[in-house]
Amino acid sequence: MLDWERSRVTIISSSDGSEVPRPPVRSPVAVQASERVVAPEAAVEDQVGEPGLRPRRLADYMGQTALKTVMQVAIDAALQRNEALDHVLLYGPPGLGKTTMAQVIGAELGVTVRITSAPALERPRDIAGLLASLAPSEVLFIDEIHRLNRLAEEILYPAMEDFSLDITIGKGTTARVRRVPLPRFTLIGATTRAGALSSPLRDRFGLIQRLNYYEPEVLQAIVLRSAELMGIVVEAEGAAVIARRARGTPRIANRLLRRVRDWAQLHHEGRVSAEAANEALDGLGVDPLGLDATDRELLRVMITQYHGGPVGIETLAAAISEDVTTIEDLYEPFLLQSGLLARTPRGRVATPRAGVHLGLTLDSGPGAHQLSLPGQFGNPPT
Ligand code: ADP
Repeated sequence: MLDWERSRVTIISSSDGSEVPRPPVRSPVAVQASERVVAPEAAVEDQVGEPGLRPRRLADYMGQTALKTVMQVAIDAALQRNEALDHVLLYGPPGLGKTTMAQVIGAELGVTVRITSAPALERPRDIAGLLASLAPSEVLFIDEIHRLNRLAEEILYPAMEDFSLDITIGKGTTARVRRVPLPRFTLIGATTRAGALSSPLRDRFGLIQRLNYYEPEVLQAIVLRSAELMGIVVEAEGAAVIARRARGTPRIANRLLRRVRDWAQLHHEGRVSAEAANEALDGLGVDPLGLDATDRELLRVMITQYHGGPVGIETLAAAISEDVTTIEDLYEPFLLQSGLLARTPRGRVATPRAGVHLGLTLDSGPGAHQLSLPGQFGNPPT
């Protein structure tokens, strides 16, 4: 961790004041996810390598222009009024920079950012203790905020709205509620599933901002910046190859860069050229669109066994021996986003683009032929 981060970011997991590393964020499918080189969720290797690569200020934060513009105005205005910033909800797929943005906001405001995640706030006293320990204008960052339980949410409502904490003293008929004032603070919530947030919670955020997948040119700039920070020699074309295969996601771009570096070190005298990057990524099974072997198998089965679809998700899962949740959470989002797969009321269909990519003909898929081809990163609604 950089000095700056050490001084400004407090990582906590409970209200007892102990500072412990943030527990790895684990979704039900995180175990498989962490084994995929193109998984957008943080793997252990990312947690070690990422902190030093995080942009620290708004000016270093690449892409997400609309988000940065909104945040710059809100931050400047809050600073001018000498008030805490409004509560912010950041949503979008994993690995796009939500945690990073929360830290950038803290740095721009010149305040400490306390980082935690909803699964670490299981008991009411975890969140109550945390809120009670906040200093004026501090930023509290809650990752995976859609996973907060009801009790925790209910404690959060008055805290967000009136900056007060309702504490129940005693039990049963003698129970009394005492209202304790809190300093004005900013809550930044992050979620990959905006739709899973309860509406009372969502309504309490003043700024709700979505993060989009990055264009390859922006990812290329991110790869070049990371390479410089890591002391890796990367040619512009080498960075472009990594960027194109990184599924619009900075976390994946940085991970692929680390893998390509190893290959370049062994076979290209440490220089990441386009050739080195292509060889390394081909070797890892990450193809020019960023698909891995399972992505391709899924599309291949749809095209060769089901004429491109429509095919039900259960049938598909059985055909490639995966479970439905794994397909829905891990494989489908990127295939949808890149216009290779589409959802219809009658099931999933492989698009003509998928056929072209795999060199297969979509002979009689009824839905497939009628589909238009969105751009590489179409950013469908979450
Ligand atoms: P999320 O919280 O959305 O899962 P993170 O904020 O942890 O994503 O970002 C993952 C990594 O991607 C960070 O460590 C950082 O190195 C990189 N990253 C994310 N956004 C950007 C950006 N806009 N510019 C440069 N690097 C970024």
